[in-house]
Amino acid sequence: MVFDAIGERGHEQVSYFTDDETGLRAIAAIHDTTLGPSLGGTRLYDYETEEEALHDVLRLSHAMTYKAAATELPLGGGKAVVLGGPEVASPALFQAYGRAVDRLGGRYVTSVDVNTGAAEMDAIAEETEHVVGTSSGLENPSAITAHGVFRGIEACAEHVYGSASLDGRRVLVQGTGKVGTALAKQLLEAGAEVTVSDVDADRVERLVETQGVGSVAPEAVVDEECDVFAPCAIGGVVNDESLPRLSCDIVAGAANNVLAERRHAAALADRGILYAPDYVINAGGLITVYEEYAGGTREAALEKADRIGDRLSALIERAEDEGATVLDAADAYAEDRLAEKRERAAPV
Ligand code: NAD
Repeated sequence: MVFDAIGERGHEQVSYFTDDETGLRAIAAIHDTTLGPSLGGTRLYDYETEEEALHDVLRLSHAMTYKAAATELPLGGGKAVVLGGPEVASPALFQAYGRAVDRLGGRYVTSVDVNTGAAEMDAIAEETEHVVGTSSGLENPSAITAHGVFRGIEACAEHVYGSASLDGRRVLVQGTGKVGTALAKQLLEAGAEVTVSDVDADRVERLVETQGVGSVAPEAVVDEECDVFAPCAIGGVVNDESLPRLSCDIVAGAANNVLAERRHAAALADRGILYAPDYVINAGGLITVYEEYAGGTREAALEKADRIGDRLSALIERAEDEGATVLDAADAYAEDRLAEKRERAAPV
């Protein structure tokens, strides 16, 4: 059963790690290293079963291959999960995990993810150099993610309205966390009419008071009429229930897994709504950790994130040419890059 699961998406390697002293139980999945070392965060999560943990790490590492390839980074796709949730976390446990990562010899480079941050990466960094996202890493990656999303929204506007200008466009930002807040500010500077929503009412109030944005209740988000809906909170916001209610021309935001299911990309297209694939538009975070890994600067990361708009435009055009969804076009572009590299590497 494990071999079937690993073989299904063509993973190169899946490693299980334990450490008696700290109780560490972790799985690292290396999906594909054709384009470079696999890079992806370590998620700390209390999975119901080991199968669920394996399923999650396989799915997430596979997605990282596509994200890195579509972003034109010399990286492969990997991801890891530490089983147990935040209550098992300790510096000693992450040091043990760091030794495990080190044993992969640089084929997997780890970073932050759900329930892990700079403190955990610092503990890992005591044991291995194959880690990014530490406290000495590049500053404020979320602002770089937001900048990429902003450029992506401009590209979508250009396509839908014939102008990239967001002046006067109504943009609804769901989630006023690190990315959503930075995005809302950049949109305001561009003259957009911004409305925000968050389950955390204090955050919304702060933005309303300091930035003069509008607000909408979390449960009313999908019914709110706007030009651009920018999900920057949770996954699965486009689903069977929300889809018929959406009243926008564009869905483009930072959240991962915006679509509850892949088929929702076609369903959005059928409704005449342009969807910017999440892994293309939110790649600023990966770009930032790549620059840290490669010894680059924040400016270099910002410059790469700046190109997300052009990349998205090219994918929108490809989708039109091929009569496909933009998500299909993005996947095909990533697969082309992988195939090209494999061809060049193949012995003649
Ligand atoms: P964050 O934790 O700082 O902010 C998330 C915000 O969403 C919080 O304010 C939270 O209260 C709010 N929220 C949660 N559930 C909600 C709901 N049902 N309705 C409305 N608001 C809700 O996270 P972030 O770093 O800003 O990331 C936002 C999204 O973008 C996440 O999906 C994340 O995976 C994705 N992302 C982030 C980065 C990055 O650089 N931070 C990079 C790529 C993708």
